[in-house]
Amino acid sequence: MKILMTASEAVPFVKTGGLADAVSSLSAALAALGHEVRIVIPRYYGIDRKKLTKLEGAMGVPVGSGEEWCAVYTTRLPGTSGKKSSAENPVTVYFIDHEGFFGRDGIYGSHAEPDFLDNPRRFSFFCRSCFQLCRKIHWYPDVLHAHDWPAALVPVFLKYGERRGVSSEEGSFANTVSVLTIHNLGYQGIYSKDNFSCTGLGWDVFYDAGFDDWNMMNLLKAGINSAGRLNTVSPNYARETLTQAQGFRLDGPLNSRRADYSGILNGIDTVVWNPQTDKYLPAPYSAKDLGGKARAKAALQRRFGLKESAGLPLIGMIGRLAEQKGIGELFGPSYGSAWSICRDMDLQFAFLGSGEIWAENEVRSLASRLSNFKAHIGYSEEISHLIEGGADFFLMPSRYEPCGLNQMYSLAYGTLPIVRNTGGLADTVANYNQETGEGTGFMFDDLTPSAIYNTVGWAVWAWYNKPEDILAMRIRGMKQDFSWKKSAKQYLELYKSAGA
Ligand code: ADP
Repeated sequence: MKILMTASEAVPFVKTGGLADAVSSLSAALAALGHEVRIVIPRYYGIDRKKLTKLEGAMGVPVGSGEEWCAVYTTRLPGTSGKKSSAENPVTVYFIDHEGFFGRDGIYGSHAEPDFLDNPRRFSFFCRSCFQLCRKIHWYPDVLHAHDWPAALVPVFLKYGERRGVSSEEGSFANTVSVLTIHNLGYQGIYSKDNFSCTGLGWDVFYDAGFDDWNMMNLLKAGINSAGRLNTVSPNYARETLTQAQGFRLDGPLNSRRADYSGILNGIDTVVWNPQTDKYLPAPYSAKDLGGKARAKAALQRRFGLKESAGLPLIGMIGRLAEQKGIGELFGPSYGSAWSICRDMDLQFAFLGSGEIWAENEVRSLASRLSNFKAHIGYSEEISHLIEGGADFFLMPSRYEPCGLNQMYSLAYGTLPIVRNTGGLADTVANYNQETGEGTGFMFDDLTPSAIYNTVGWAVWAWYNKPEDILAMRIRGMKQDFSWKKSAKQYLELYKSAGA
């Protein structure tokens, strides 16, 4: 099968969240199953052109009633399938290079302008360029797989225009099907409908495809209505998004596509996230020999300036400081539970992340007042691996979580997740049963400061009173298979059901 992934992010070139991991790892997993997979993303300012190869000639892309010109660069996807040499990795990546749209700091926005005003124009251009790229390289995919709102116009363009009345010896999109994956329903690409003309589509399509959203235009909504098949990144989140409570106002359109909508759990890159080979850990370890984990804990305590102690339970946390992650209930000034957790319990807490300014300030303030709470504000691959390896527990009190990667990394590293029972967290973690010792983590239902406090308290109680259960849970988690292989096969089934 020939598959073109269209997305705004792909590791290792550009990443702001789990989307980037999913696009590259899924592509590599599909290629490993023998399929021809290519990826197309914008060439942002931060992606060095010198490391890429330029395709000959310029490429014209229709934008509204006019045309914009761009260049196309290419390279191979390195490393994601475990192969060091890029020549061995069969996934080709294309970069759409347009200085005006992508030659700036920031992917979707900047500090001064959190959501770039010209995003509808930038990503409409990008989506149209995916079709032009295929024409340029004379390669027509069986599946156009679009990811999230920045690529949501791809299925719309395919349905309303690109597929119509084209058939030539060269090939065409006549038999191409589209799939749209929703990585986070909280981000939909909603803009003033004054921007609609940049799509080049007629106003009949505005209403037919369902762009309209309270007098605005909603890119994801139009993608949902137009894609051949839809999915999100865990079965439980798929169910949740069909409800009014968690559907972000798109539960109606999703329900109307219910028969074509499913959930496929993301995998993890088991080469990068493997305690037996992790280059950031002081010593390798496995479910058979956990000795290296104790060394990772000591290294983490040293790195964060925490007291070196094997006996104190160490809680780790990594992620964006965004409302989605439950940070109000954890770090909210005066009511968040982090302060009382660290004050009342015999434990240590190591935090890595960045995001909303008030939360960054609160985290810094906690670190200055508590000797057992330390934080690194920023982004660091190295520290994230050290936390996953060295912590005993991993806290994720998410308000909602489409899939979540960190809890899977934690399970693979024998670090027990403490999570809210929501989205992909519910699909990947099994709650501890203190009667039988079963489970792989600790879960709570309500997102309240006291629920977080009590569940962390429960985990700490088990640490001190049920060490044999803690060890058994660690090993159980480490033995689970979160590789992309199973999910890649499910995506193939989805492509087939779309008609590929
Ligand atoms: P989301 O996409 O909602 O941010 P996910 O759990 O799906 O959440 O994916 C987040 C990814 O980004 C994970 O791989 C996580 O380890 C990584 N990450 C987030 N914040 C940081 C950080 N400050 N430093 C290093 N890695 C981070």
